[in-house]
Amino acid sequence: MDILVVGGGGREHAIIWSLAKSPRAGKIYCAPGNAGIAQLAECVPIGVFEFDRLTAFAKEREVGLVVIGPDDPLAGGIVDAFEAEGIPVFGPRRNAAEIEGSKTFMKDLLHKYNIPTAAYEKFDDYETALAYLRNQELPIVIKADGLAAGKGVTVAYSREEAELALRDIMVSKVFGEAGAQVVIEEFLAGQEMSILAFVDGETVRPMAAAQDHKPVFDGDKGPNTGGMGTYSPLPHIADEIIREAVETIIEPTAKAMVAEGRPFSGVLFAGLMISPDGKPKTIEFNARFGDPETQVVLPRLRSDLLEIFLAVVEGRLADIEIEWSEEAAVCVVLASEGYPGSYPKGVPISGLSERGGGLVFHAGTAFGEDGSYVTNGGRVLGVVGLGASIAEAREAAYAQAESIAFAGKQNRSDIAMKALV
Ligand code: AMP
Repeated sequence: MDILVVGGGGREHAIIWSLAKSPRAGKIYCAPGNAGIAQLAECVPIGVFEFDRLTAFAKEREVGLVVIGPDDPLAGGIVDAFEAEGIPVFGPRRNAAEIEGSKTFMKDLLHKYNIPTAAYEKFDDYETALAYLRNQELPIVIKADGLAAGKGVTVAYSREEAELALRDIMVSKVFGEAGAQVVIEEFLAGQEMSILAFVDGETVRPMAAAQDHKPVFDGDKGPNTGGMGTYSPLPHIADEIIREAVETIIEPTAKAMVAEGRPFSGVLFAGLMISPDGKPKTIEFNARFGDPETQVVLPRLRSDLLEIFLAVVEGRLADIEIEWSEEAAVCVVLASEGYPGSYPKGVPISGLSERGGGLVFHAGTAFGEDGSYVTNGGRVLGVVGLGASIAEAREAAYAQAESIAFAGKQNRSDIAMKALV
């Protein structure tokens, strides 16, 4: 079966790496892909929002399955576009992807169905929001309603910060229409974790749990990024808590979506806060694989990813078993100088071909004029180490990260340390 994967980051590289292991996988195409993905798939220069060109390509090449990586085209209805052409596609429809695309929709849904999440109010008027905000205790969390490339959330520790965030969203409109509404919500203290799950209507099959590191610098300092590294499993969080999160949050949410006439099909990714007394609450939902969570979760998958995708698309997820390995995985992101601010592109990368055995998923890479690898994004590579424990996996990841070089390379040196102390 030939497959088209839409996207071009580390997440899509990991998905394609996993799909390519399936005995049923034929030719894999990726639109638009990157230089690392080109080792495994034919990259086609079509953008993720060019729905007409993507569906025409899939039809012409008679692909048997399309897999959507990123959030924006999902929120824009890319799955509906493929379905309208009768092409099997893995991912939620637009009305289900709204669980990520609109924070007010998500919060109202959880509230209606009594699913644990932070207390909140939503506003579409600046003055009313400001008056409300002035009566709240600190810290407080301000969120733009729509997709804002991961930058629409401010955890404010001072009045000035809180009011500036509100003004940025509602008056300066720095996120455009994504800030037409705002959610002001209670600050939750505790340990963050993510659970990804395959979902097909009411059927939920959790994947291995993972933890991301959002801030750019060691010790969780500096501005937030798309994610600087991940690890899986989470040895410091009891299986019981993970089970509770699945039973009290993910499964009821899948049921609620069915009840609302928006059945979810694809990967549902819950960002959770575990309170000091061990109770999970929802921070956010994403309607797709996380990046870089996928890079540590899929290497631990023992089952055939293509068979799982097909089971979800065909509505028979309940009939299959999914197996995970006991191995630990750690991903260290190598980023460009200046990221998450502006950064150079086209910087030569060395050490990629000499790497021994490990996994390197490309995020922002391209081919230079002489055909060698160059940087082409903020997050450049995700280096994954595997081992019998987090400590072993971490050592393997950092040993490999050190063997790869490019001018201005930056990475955190404390990925997965929280799991070791
Ligand atoms: P989000 O994009 O909604 O995941 O938010 C980005 C980050 O902001 C999260 O990963 C958390 O670290 C933090 N955050 C969001 N909501 C809350 C909350 N209610 N309490 C504490 N931290 C939060």
